[in-house]
Amino acid sequence: MELEFTAQEQAFEEEVQRFLADALPPSLAAKEAQGFHLHREDVAPWHQALWRQGWIAPGWPQRFGGTGWSPMERFLFERACGVANAPEVSLIALSMVGPVLCEFGSDALRERFLEPIRRGDLWFCQGFSEPEAGSDLAAVRCRTRFEGDSIVLNGHKIWTTDAHMADYMICLARTSDAGRPREGLSMILLPMDAPGVWVRPIATLDGDHHINEVFLEDVVVPRENLVGEVNSGWAQARYLLGRERTHNAYVGMLRRYLARFPGLLQRQLAAGLDGRVAEGLLRDHVQLSLDVEAHEWSVLRLLADEESSQLRAGASAVKVRGSELLLKASELEVMALGSQVIPAMTPAMTPTTAQPLPAGAGADAPGRVTQSLYWRAAAIFGGTNEIQRGIIYSTLFHR
Ligand SMILES: Cc1cc2nc3c(=O)[nH]c(=O)nc-3n(C[C@H](O)[C@H](O)[C@H](O)COP(=O)(O)OP(=O)(O)OC[C@H]3O[C@@H](n4cnc5c(N)ncnc54)[C@H](O)[C@@H]3O)c2cc1C
Repeated sequence: MELEFTAQEQAFEEEVQRFLADALPPSLAAKEAQGFHLHREDVAPWHQALWRQGWIAPGWPQRFGGTGWSPMERFLFERACGVANAPEVSLIALSMVGPVLCEFGSDALRERFLEPIRRGDLWFCQGFSEPEAGSDLAAVRCRTRFEGDSIVLNGHKIWTTDAHMADYMICLARTSDAGRPREGLSMILLPMDAPGVWVRPIATLDGDHHINEVFLEDVVVPRENLVGEVNSGWAQARYLLGRERTHNAYVGMLRRYLARFPGLLQRQLAAGLDGRVAEGLLRDHVQLSLDVEAHEWSVLRLLADEESSQLRAGASAVKVRGSELLLKASELEVMALGSQVIPAMTPAMTPTTAQPLPAGAGADAPGRVTQSLYWRAAAIFGGTNEIQRGIIYSTLFHR
């Protein structure tokens, strides 16, 4: 197995870096670097730039507007974007809805949705989890009733990221009670402005607003918004999970943390941080750099070995490791900020409600605290780390 980057891959990485230097608005990169959750309007100029470049949908088949990049090129792209403080663009639309429509959608659905998603005109949220269906996703209860050319939905979704900004939800709903629970699920594209859709924000530990509850009360959706065959939702969900092997490895974000830590430490030293404390933090940073390097090699091995029967276990392992390293990296920053984080630890600390930032090194604190608190959730979303450990065990020991 070859783990060196080829000359072609190195040239590709340089091309991406050049593009980032030219096209990523510096004000947006600075805002992203603060660590707060960005809004749709913030991210729009970067989405447009990627779209104009033809790089907006790396994971889609080329005939639908994908880039045709190899898994290695996608890794290099993600890493370079992370280091350059490029924000994530419309993740659910581009990495979930698009690929599902390319694979399972009717021509009419592809026609209606793919290009608007690529252009950034349509944002989606993912309505899978419910109060009684998270790890056990097959327990989804959101009810459907077919009436002529319509589907009527009633249900309660929870933890729905960006529901307050989305135009549509990709909704996993129950279309049959026959057979095993997973055999009666379907995916439906549900307009968020339809009568009967209620979005209620959920306050999270980090004080930012990204997740919501969504209540569906007799929401009428055209039957043509059903993706693929009725009761084929589980196969579509599995298809998605199978494709997103390494996205949750966080290689870009980890590189971002590593790159900015020395600067933060310098500023703290200049502001009076004790030299011995700084030395300890630097040692932790060096250890973290080695751990991230090793983690990247694991991701690359996974990408290089697409045919492995243990791919599922590998994807779960890099998800667990990536989320743990991310938390470590963010906590290291918080430790370097020391008592400066205390004023930042107030509720509802969002860019709009934040107090004026203190000058100097302390200006980093609110965003760093928010982000570090948020990364606790990385062990939960995308399937909890306990569930990932179960997958690793059952894949390796065929249980
Ligand atoms: C910030 C954030 C954003 C999210 N965004 C979305 C979104 O956009 N759309 C969406 O649909 N969902 C979203 N989720 C929901 C997420 O997918 C679920 O929280 C997750 O799947 C866990 O489900 P649960 O919360 O119901 O916990 P449960 O499944 O009830 O689990 C509770 C605890 O029990 C453990 N557990 C459960 N089953 C097992 C088992 N078999 N073996 C060992 N341990 C087990 C879990 O690991 C966990 O610690 C988001 C969650 C968070 C925190």
